[in-house]
Amino acid sequence: MDIFTVITIFFVVVTTMFGVVIGSFLNVVIYRIPEGRTIVKGHSMCMSCGHNLGALDLVPIFSWLFLGGKCRYCKAPVASRYIKIESFTGLVFLLYALTHTHYQINILDPYNFPRLVFFISYCIVLLMYAALVSSMMIYYDKQKAYYGFTVFSASCAVVLTILTSFVADYPSAILYLLVSCSVSLIIVGVLALFCKICRKKYTSTDFWLDLPYAIFYAYFGALLIQYDYAVIAAVVFLIIPRLFLKGTKLEKYSAIVSTCGLVLANVAGFVINLLTDNLFCNILSF
Ligand SMILES: [Zn+2]
Repeated sequence: MDIFTVITIFFVVVTTMFGVVIGSFLNVVIYRIPEGRTIVKGHSMCMSCGHNLGALDLVPIFSWLFLGGKCRYCKAPVASRYIKIESFTGLVFLLYALTHTHYQINILDPYNFPRLVFFISYCIVLLMYAALVSSMMIYYDKQKAYYGFTVFSASCAVVLTILTSFVADYPSAILYLLVSCSVSLIIVGVLALFCKICRKKYTSTDFWLDLPYAIFYAYFGALLIQYDYAVIAAVVFLIIPRLFLKGTKLEKYSAIVSTCGLVLANVAGFVINLLTDNLFCNILSF
């Protein structure tokens, strides 16, 4: 096994574990934000007996498995959704790591200035995915959207575009920011327009919910300098499923579908680049 393979496996494993740990934190975010509580302070406790949970009770996935899905103190069953959210976040991070192994190879080259930029971008995109998972579950639970997640995604995209402009031959970061902003608003605008045509309501909740996904598509379009693929992907994986679920009984699942769609679009972009042998010519896969 050569050193690149070892590094790649290491990064994929570490990223996945990071995803599971972040997923565990997201459980707190998803529960507390709609209640207007702080996410930084306070103990985690059992929902049944109120016992404060110790470190051993809070190991993501493993605690739940080893305790048989029950509270250690009162033996009340612990909902499986915690482990589902942890595994889902782990899976999202795993797929991102697998489709971005060339980021990791960059880190090995000590004379390569972009390696730091690539690594920071890699982490920021993972955080953007984490924000999506939280907003998706809050929408599932309460059918509410918090613009804080949207502002977070938008800020990340701005930082990413500026960072990338240092290493890519962009004519201008500001130009790409303007185009990306317009593209993300167009994606949401088209969705809202189609909703209107289909006589379905498009509310401000929908707007705040959908915008982070649109930002993702637009940002990756900018990065790839391939808006055509980004827009097609947004239509297939975001607009059509949203339109289909809008106004139906299944609407609460629509953010979950949008997140899965985004992950699929990323994997599809990677496979297309691989098949067309484009992986290293383009800056990265979608
Ligand atoms: Zn308990």
